[in-house]
Amino acid sequence: MANDQPMITYGKGKQMPLSLYKKRHSLAHIMAQAVLEFFPDAKPTIGPPVENGFYYDFYVSRPFTPEDLQRIEARMREIINKHVDFVRREVSEAEARALFKDNPFKLELIDGLVQGKSDEFGEKTQANGAPVITVYTQDTFTDLCRGPHVENTREINPDAFKLTQSSGAYWRGDERNPMLQRIYGVAFDTPEELQQYLHMQEEARKRDHRKLGAELEIFFFDEEVGPGLPLWMPNGGVIIEQLEALAKRVEEEAGYLRVRTPHVTKEALFLRSGHLPYYADSMFPPMTLDDGERYYLKPMNCPFHHKIYAAKPRSYRDLPLRLAEYGTCYRYEQSGELFGLMRVRSMQMNDAHIYCTEEQFEEEFLGVVNLYLRYFKIFGIEKYVMRLSLHSDEGLGKKYVDNKELWLKTEDMVRNAMRHAGVPFYEAENEAAFYGPKIDVQIFSAIGREFTLATNQVDFAVPARFNLTYTDRDGKEKTPLCIHRAPLGTHERFIGFLIEHFAGAFPVWLAPVQAVLIPIADRHIAYCQNVAAELRQHGMRVRVDDGADRMQNKIRKAQTMKIPYMLIVGDKEQQSGAVAVRLRTGEDLKAMPVAQFLENALRLIREYSLALW
Ligand SMILES: [Zn+2]
Ligand SMILES: [Zn+2]
Repeated sequence: MANDQPMITYGKGKQMPLSLYKKRHSLAHIMAQAVLEFFPDAKPTIGPPVENGFYYDFYVSRPFTPEDLQRIEARMREIINKHVDFVRREVSEAEARALFKDNPFKLELIDGLVQGKSDEFGEKTQANGAPVITVYTQDTFTDLCRGPHVENTREINPDAFKLTQSSGAYWRGDERNPMLQRIYGVAFDTPEELQQYLHMQEEARKRDHRKLGAELEIFFFDEEVGPGLPLWMPNGGVIIEQLEALAKRVEEEAGYLRVRTPHVTKEALFLRSGHLPYYADSMFPPMTLDDGERYYLKPMNCPFHHKIYAAKPRSYRDLPLRLAEYGTCYRYEQSGELFGLMRVRSMQMNDAHIYCTEEQFEEEFLGVVNLYLRYFKIFGIEKYVMRLSLHSDEGLGKKYVDNKELWLKTEDMVRNAMRHAGVPFYEAENEAAFYGPKIDVQIFSAIGREFTLATNQVDFAVPARFNLTYTDRDGKEKTPLCIHRAPLGTHERFIGFLIEHFAGAFPVWLAPVQAVLIPIADRHIAYCQNVAAELRQHGMRVRVDDGADRMQNKIRKAQTMKIPYMLIVGDKEQQSGAVAVRLRTGEDLKAMPVAQFLENALRLIREYSLALW
C-alpha cells in the first residue's frame, strides 16, 4: 500500500495516510460546526476519522433526516470554500472545563484526559504524566482535540466528500447511556476517488453474499436451527468439497498430514490450553454429562493437534510435523454481532499446526507465506496486505506471555522470514496473539473491498503448557515451536468473500454446476442424457434441463444461476455428435464436437483457471 506517504495508526491498529486522516478529521469538525448552526442545542460528543471517512455523534433533540444531511453537507461546502484556518491552542484544565461547561459529554472526556485514562475520542490510552489539553478552532467552532488537522480548509476538495447516513448510537457504545445521533461521511483526496468508492459500494450491494447466497442456492439460515448456524445447500456443499480438495492437494504437496478430531471435549483440555477461563465468553456454555464432567464445544482445533503431537515420543527426525484438518469450531458470537457468513457460530477452518525446531522455523514460515500467495493466485486475489503484529512492553504479563526476550527473538525470526519472502508488510505494536507474534492478512475483493483473512501465528508458549517435546540430536529434550495457520480461513468467511469477489460467477473448477445441457425439443433429451453421462464420467458436474420451458427461458435460467456452460442440442448437433456451446457471459461459441468441449473444459478445471474458455 501507499508506502511513499507517511501513515498514521488509528483505532485498533489500522492505518491511513496522514494527509487523508487530517482531511477526514477536519471534515468531522466542519460537520459539527454546520450541525450547530442548524441545531444550536445539539451537543457534539466524539467525531473521529474512520476508514473511508469520518463520523460525529451528537446529543440532539431528534434524529437527523436525509434533508438535514443535505443541508449540512451544503453548509460544509460553504465553510470549506471560505478557506478558514484550523488553529491549535493549549489550554489549562480549568479553561477546558469552562469552554465546554454546557457539554457534559466533553466534560467527561476531559475527566478521562486529565486522569490519563482516555483520549478525546474516549479511547483508552496509556499516557504518562500530566496531559497537555489542546483545542482546535476553525471559523466559529472550537473542539476538544489533539489533532492533527489541515492548516486551512483550502486543502480539502469540497467535492471529494459526502454525508452518507445517520443512525442512533449510544454514548460510549453502552445502551444504559443516552442515545446519540451519528452522522457518517465518506471523504477522499479527489472527487474521482469518492466516485470510485461510491460505485464500489453500489457494486457491493449487488454482490452481497447474503443476497447472492440465497439466489444461487448456496446457503441459508433457519430459525429452528439457530442464528449464526448456516445450512449449506447442495451448491454450497460442492463449493466446500472443491475447496477442501484443493487444500488437501496443496497441503499434501507441502508435506502436511491430515488428522480428525472431535467437536466436543472435556473442560480440562481448555483449562490446559488456557482458553478457559479467559476465552469462556466466546465459547458455548458447557454441558455436564452423567459422570459429572463438563464438556465444551471446541472453539479451536489447536489443543487437539497438540495432543496428537504428544501421542508418541518425537525426535528431531519427526520435525517439522505438519498436522492439518478442516476442523469445525463453535464460537458464541453475540447475536448482535452475527452477520451472514462473515460472523457465524459454527465454522469449518482450514487449520493446521506446524511443529518445528528453531532452525526450521524460517523455512516453515516461508512455506506458509508461499501457500497464501499460491492461493491468492488461484483465486485471482490481486491486492492483499500483510501486517506483522507485535507485542507491547506494557502488555507483558497481562495481554502477552511475560518473556520479553523470547518475544523479541520470535518477532525477529518472523520479520526475517517475511523479508526473505519478499512480501511487503508493515508492523503494528500491541496487536500480537497472547502467545506470540502473528501475521494478519487482509485481502481485497475484485471490487476493492477489504476482508480479514486468517492469521499466521507463531506460538512459543503453548507447546510448553502441553509438555510437547522432542529429543534433539544431542539427546536433550527440547520444546518445539508451533505455527498456527489457516490460509483459506473458514469456509464460511472465505465463501462469503468468494461470492462477492466473483459476483457468484465462480471459476469453472469451483462452479457448483459446470454445464447444463439444453435440448431444443423432446427428441433431443436422450442424446443430452448420453452426453451428460459422458461428461460426468470425466468428473464434470452436469445437469440436463429437460423441463417444459422454452429454450430461451432455459438459457436465461442457467445464466441467472451463473452456470459457466450452456450446451444446446438440436437436430444438427445430435446428428454430428456435437453440442452448441454458450458461455454464461452470453458469448456463443457455436457447435463443436463433444470431445473438443470436454478437452478444453477439463484443461481449465485441471489448471484451476479463472478463464471461462
Ligand atoms: Zn478533533
Ligand atoms: Zn491453532
